[in-house]
Amino acid sequence: MASNEFPWELLDNRYNDRFQKLALQEVPVQRLTVRSAWNYRLFLERPEWFQYTIPGMFAMLGKRNPATGRSAVRAFSIVSAPHEDFLEFYIAVKGETIDDLLPLSPEDPELEKRILEYPYVSMLLQDVVEKEVEANPAYNNVLLGQATMGSFRYDTKDPRIAVFGFTGTGVAAGVPIVRGYSWAPSVRKGIVLHGVRNPADFAYQDEFKEHRSKYPDFQYHMFLSRDAGTPWHYGRGRITKVLAPAPQEMTGEIHPFEKLTGVPYDPNHVKLYLCGSDAMIKQVTDYAVNERGFDRKDIIHEKFFD
Ligand SMILES: Cc1cc2nc3c(=O)[nH]c(=O)nc-3n(C[C@H](O)[C@H](O)[C@H](O)COP(=O)(O)OP(=O)(O)OC[C@H]3O[C@@H](n4cnc5c(N)ncnc54)[C@H](O)[C@@H]3O)c2cc1C
Repeated sequence: MASNEFPWELLDNRYNDRFQKLALQEVPVQRLTVRSAWNYRLFLERPEWFQYTIPGMFAMLGKRNPATGRSAVRAFSIVSAPHEDFLEFYIAVKGETIDDLLPLSPEDPELEKRILEYPYVSMLLQDVVEKEVEANPAYNNVLLGQATMGSFRYDTKDPRIAVFGFTGTGVAAGVPIVRGYSWAPSVRKGIVLHGVRNPADFAYQDEFKEHRSKYPDFQYHMFLSRDAGTPWHYGRGRITKVLAPAPQEMTGEIHPFEKLTGVPYDPNHVKLYLCGSDAMIKQVTDYAVNERGFDRKDIIHEKFFD
């Protein structure tokens, strides 16, 4: 399906009513870079009114629906760090089957269900921004709300090792924490575990690798769940392989997490920060609580998608 055939009018359903009264302002886009076929990085000018002080915050971001004129926004984690003078977001166009989406028709009794398959705001942001910018730079803006603290709160005072488990674009919530704080061994220790389906989706890998080489106690591990036939030797499988291993993945005396990181997998040593898919968050939380003695308050999480 070509993007200009997107059924923008039908996608603006009643679900979006709740966003119409939000305080949103037009903010200029600096640039949009495509990281892979499905994910992109969006850079905005940082407005004076934007009160972004703590890494891990998110903001409502979107465009006007081109057919209805109503705000189309969703929550997106702020990737840039508070000290940076621009705003960055990392956004997924959901799924890999846009061409397979069934056409929407107002008469379809299954309309509400089908609509859920369509990436609405993420597609609108990517597609309309690019086209409009080409046609007229005056349209080079998006709708932005105030920075908000969600559930992804990084505890700067906790002396335990911060273990970040990210799937896909979930990494967006962690980048500002890595950028925003010192990872000198005397200050704090961190371990990033990032799981993606395709090699191109290891966004921010250069940044994490630079940290890894600079700070001896900062670890970065990549997990690729689908073999794309590339020559790169990434770690295979999902992050749950070490954070919530199935009995058959528990080979040997040492837990797979400890084997990989050298750190015991227990709440005395580790605090967990999970972001991305609901399935991963549930699986790791259940495992950490039931099998490793974690309290739920030792597990900070933000769900991006089901
Ligand atoms: C705090 C937070 C931070 C996030 N950060 C990021 C991030 O950094 N990067 C990122 O890619 N994603 C992030 N997400 C997810 C993001 O907000 C969107 O959910 C995601 O991009 C999908 O949005 P979408 O518009 O493409 O599709 P959807 O929101 O899934 O919309 C698809 C269609 O379904 C309709 N719809 C959706 N839900 C309902 C419903 N309950 N009832 C009826 N109709 C419905 C919509 O109107 C639309 O037409 C974050 C989410 C949260 C909560």
